[in-house]
Amino acid sequence: MTAPAPLVASDLDRTLIYSAAALHLTGPDAAAPRLLCVEVYEGRPLSYMTETAAALLAELARRTTFVPVTTRTREQYRRVHLPGPPPEFAVCANGGRLLVRGESDPDWQRTVAARLAAQCAPLDEIRAHLDRTADPAWLRSARTAEDLFAYLVVERSLLPEPWVKDLAAWAEPRGWTVSVQGRKIYAVPRPLTKSAAVAEVARRTGAPGILAAGDSLLDTDLLLAADRGWRPGHGELADTGWRAPHVTALAERGVAAGEVITRAFLDGATAPGRA
Ligand SMILES: [Mg+2]
Repeated sequence: MTAPAPLVASDLDRTLIYSAAALHLTGPDAAAPRLLCVEVYEGRPLSYMTETAAALLAELARRTTFVPVTTRTREQYRRVHLPGPPPEFAVCANGGRLLVRGESDPDWQRTVAARLAAQCAPLDEIRAHLDRTADPAWLRSARTAEDLFAYLVVERSLLPEPWVKDLAAWAEPRGWTVSVQGRKIYAVPRPLTKSAAVAEVARRTGAPGILAAGDSLLDTDLLLAADRGWRPGHGELADTGWRAPHVTALAERGVAAGEVITRAFLDGATAPGRA
């Protein structure tokens, strides 16, 4: 009899799935991998993985409890159609929503709301500050996600270098974290974490361990909470040189990193002497 497989908890954007701008296909076109489109937005293809990664992920989802863990809202997550059986659990809104067979778990929602009310400044205060300080010269839009956190879509080339640092310094004593990913600047309550939601899934499933992957600052807690982790050669964590002893820092960048991570998950979750 085989022991229960560990939980595999993975960030999506720029970890498993990639927009055209993030693919990083630098080799000759004739040698480029064939890609599978896994997300359509406003009638156009938006996110991809390699066909090889897609096949590996389908097998992973069949053999383990594979949990997509994303900062996306539920609406943004539902556009993504990953290969394999639909995940029983998914984490959206950076841990603010736990989907169980596609439905938001009300108990978890209440737990998160109570934690935020007790431990950090309210969203309205953060939004008011963003409205006051963001410059229309580089601001494309200001959004609120699931009434939990805020993000700005910006023109990166026009964004003054110190602005994000100043925002992070202002947000820190208020219990909020700032993360920059592509054209988006996120302001997220510090108690709103991916790892807390994944720990809840681990508790419910009785999984013996957690494998995780992610590329951004908002994945740090998830990687630290895992038994083993992987991060791609691109992204906020790679740019800042972030490392942890149990987290493999891959050299691969772009969609190729997604394929390596999927293979590592499958090997790690199914190897007889796994962690
Ligand atoms: Mg990411």
